[in-house]
Amino acid sequence: MSEVARTRFAPSPTGYLHVGGARTALFAWLTAKQAGGQFLLRIEDTDRTRHVDEAEQHITDSLTWLGMTPDEKPLRQSQRLDIYKQWGQKLIEAGRAYADPTSETMLDQLRDQAKAAKKAFLYRENRPAQAPIWNGSQPLRFKSKPQAYKWRDEVMGELASSPEAIDDFILIKSDGYPTYNFAHIVDDYEQNISHVIRSQEFLPSVPKFLNLYEALKIKRPKLATLPYVMRPDGKKKLSKRDGARDILDYKREGFLPEALINFLATLGWNDGTEQEIFSVDELIKKFDLARVQRSGARFDEQRLIWMNGHYIRELPIDRLDQLAGAKSKKPTFAKSTVDRQKAVSSFWPPEAEEATDDYKKAVLGLVQERLKYLAELPQLTSFFFTEPKVEQILKLYQEPVDGQLQKNPPDYKTYLSAVIKELADSDFSAKDIQNRLNKLLDRLSTKPAILFPVIRIALTGSQVSPEIFGTLHVLGKEKTLARLQKALQAL
Ligand code: GLU
Repeated sequence: MSEVARTRFAPSPTGYLHVGGARTALFAWLTAKQAGGQFLLRIEDTDRTRHVDEAEQHITDSLTWLGMTPDEKPLRQSQRLDIYKQWGQKLIEAGRAYADPTSETMLDQLRDQAKAAKKAFLYRENRPAQAPIWNGSQPLRFKSKPQAYKWRDEVMGELASSPEAIDDFILIKSDGYPTYNFAHIVDDYEQNISHVIRSQEFLPSVPKFLNLYEALKIKRPKLATLPYVMRPDGKKKLSKRDGARDILDYKREGFLPEALINFLATLGWNDGTEQEIFSVDELIKKFDLARVQRSGARFDEQRLIWMNGHYIRELPIDRLDQLAGAKSKKPTFAKSTVDRQKAVSSFWPPEAEEATDDYKKAVLGLVQERLKYLAELPQLTSFFFTEPKVEQILKLYQEPVDGQLQKNPPDYKTYLSAVIKELADSDFSAKDIQNRLNKLLDRLSTKPAILFPVIRIALTGSQVSPEIFGTLHVLGKEKTLARLQKALQAL
């Protein structure tokens, strides 16, 4: 793509940024970056009743974390009221806008009448014959010229609408704030936006916008409509209520921005192949609005978790170590979905505080393979820092959860004594541990699927752990032998 691109993300600051919004931002960002253009942020803060003070900061933080920093200072609609008034005035002068004298009560009556007659309420039928002079205290309405339209949407393809889709909508409300319908048209024009990339909820209003572009004699930008991100069951649009989480919750849970970007990009887009993993650079090259699916994409958090695991496995160990020790800020929103409401000092379990950096790095090296996101660290690693409970060990010996141990319970005492004896002379390199335990398998005429769980349970209090030889090596000789002894004594 070589055409100029200037795109924008235009959230209303009414709450936290979630996956749906972040995906819209990403598609706009990718479209701009691909063409070497600019990506802008516009804060559409004209609905004072829904305004949330921390929301703008939160949106900026989320975009920054994801690496989608806007190329210019954000534009705030609430600071541009005079500009919308001037544009409104221009429309009045051109005979395309008028002050609306209808009271709220009257409007409600008209709506009720239309409903009773089973008709869509179109304001234009009530256009006053003689409009009063606009003094700013009445709503300013657009004087529409309803007609049928055909237009091209970059995602949805060729679209058409009938004149009934258009009425005399409000441009500026009686509180002096413009409506979305008006303000975004003015801003897109003044910001020289080339592509308007936004959610499906605005599609029914596009005919009105087309009518307004004409009245303003503005060449419209390209329009791209993104279908909704759907709930996992595909039945409804994903809402904050059904799991559309605060984007920064993913940061607090130890997800990687590159994983989230990859996940969001493939939420309703593919490159025509089966490829699922895309680096950011690759996305910038390959992304194409024309390949965005026209139907809703289902949100599947398990897929994100899987992808994050992939990116974690690719990390150099030093980087992983750095991330594991990173501090996280308190959630901005009280109702954040992450339960730990306090700032945390790192992803490590609290018991890890005493451990040396080298030890922690070695532990990371072992769990990296199975770690899906950093908040899983305590669950996967706590046994490296604290001894498992004897009761837990005994319970698992007596009632193994699954596997060979359940079918062929061995003589635990004999096995444990043999292991202790065998490892007593080991230099405790992973290689030596492996050689010795393999020899022991022969001597006890048993299989790894029986001997190794016996050792694993004594060391970790669990039937799952990272690879066994490495686990023993990292735990070290002293801890390993002590824990094996303790288990033996308890039997
Ligand atoms: N303010 C609108 C929203 O929050 C933005 C729509 C657009 O991108 O034009 O959904």
